[in-house]
Amino acid sequence: MTKRLSFFNLVDLLQNQFDRLPEHRTGKNTTYLIRDAALGAFSVFFMQSPSFLAYQEMMQCNAGHNNATSLFGVETIPSDNQIRNLLDPLEPGYLFGVFGQVSALLEESGELQAYRTYRDNLLIILDGTQYFSSKEIHCANCSHRTHGDETTYFHAVITPVIAAPGNSRVIALEPEFIIAQDGHEKQDCERAAAKRWLEQYGTRYAAFKATLLGDDLFCNQPLCESVLAQKFNFIFVCKPDSHPELYQMVAFLEAHGLVEQFSERVWKGKYAEIFTYRFVNQVPLRAGADALKVNWCELSIQRETTGKITYRNAWATHHEVTRTAVKAIVQAGRTRWKVENENNNVLKTKGYHFEHNFGHGTQHLATFLLTLNLLAFLFHTVLDLTDAKYKLLRDKLRARKTFFDDLRALTRYLYYESWEHLMDFMIANLKLTPPIDSS
Ligand SMILES: [Zn+2]
Repeated sequence: MTKRLSFFNLVDLLQNQFDRLPEHRTGKNTTYLIRDAALGAFSVFFMQSPSFLAYQEMMQCNAGHNNATSLFGVETIPSDNQIRNLLDPLEPGYLFGVFGQVSALLEESGELQAYRTYRDNLLIILDGTQYFSSKEIHCANCSHRTHGDETTYFHAVITPVIAAPGNSRVIALEPEFIIAQDGHEKQDCERAAAKRWLEQYGTRYAAFKATLLGDDLFCNQPLCESVLAQKFNFIFVCKPDSHPELYQMVAFLEAHGLVEQFSERVWKGKYAEIFTYRFVNQVPLRAGADALKVNWCELSIQRETTGKITYRNAWATHHEVTRTAVKAIVQAGRTRWKVENENNNVLKTKGYHFEHNFGHGTQHLATFLLTLNLLAFLFHTVLDLTDAKYKLLRDKLRARKTFFDDLRALTRYLYYESWEHLMDFMIANLKLTPPIDSS
């Protein structure tokens, strides 16, 4: 187990960050610390239990101790109302440092090695998601769109994650909130957010050696140039509709026999599929003499018996595409789709509720809570990677989806002096063989 990434140390990182949250109260009503409000909200997300704090409050009254204090370091349990009032004025950027610290520790401890894929690169998926929408509730930081006389308020965010083909654990990085602006297309706002993320974190993550994956909307020249300027590579979906000049060139080269193509038969257990790869290097991404030259590849999958095409997608990349490289590049490109499809999308993962008890707030609450939620998700992933006891329990209870149910019930009725104590209790009562402590 990587001690520096234990539950105790992760919570310690969080507490250090929370200690630096600025005091915004002017009156004497400072019974509840802002740190307790942030830790309390985090604990609700981490335990995936809207009632966690209420139960701990009850345990404190009845037994004089509680798990919010022992596990998360909450000194005085605040109410949901107090949490809302204390956190609403705080910008989510105060929390972002934790993402960088955790990813640096993962890299130092060698945990990211398993995520390295084509040419030793990490794959970072950039994807925009809308996570809140309402016609009534809104805050100072809501985006809005108006149809006729009806206004819809919403929040959207890019949540970059490190992912690898065939690995269900994605590692959340710093989010970037999408700011919708009047007169700007939705995709322009998403690209602008991606560009801000690159400018802010590019240096850090490019040093990890990374390829960015993204949807067709990222496959545009200014964004690709920003990506390259930050020393990332990219594999972006490249659709014909949005890249007519590129596809004209591909068709021209194809007519002259200059687009390479080969097929492979893949046995799927009950039927065979034909995977056909086509690729060509150095084609213009758009019209004009200054067009960026990209390398293009396509995969189509066909049922052998019926000839029916079941999948087709194409990508533009800065990696050179060769006969030996194309399969790995396509596999990397498809990782984005697989993560989405296998429901590992951070924001769509079951059990993560964003605003259940705390409401939307009037200033930053919605974005602050979303960031805490992403941190809770990140911590679970890190523990699953580095904590042998946690991993043992998740592997055992994952199929039955009971891990969080058990956590909720156990911490409601029983007191644990530490996370370690809770894990040991579960392992012992499930009659599992505890992992050997290699530390
Ligand atoms: Zn809002």
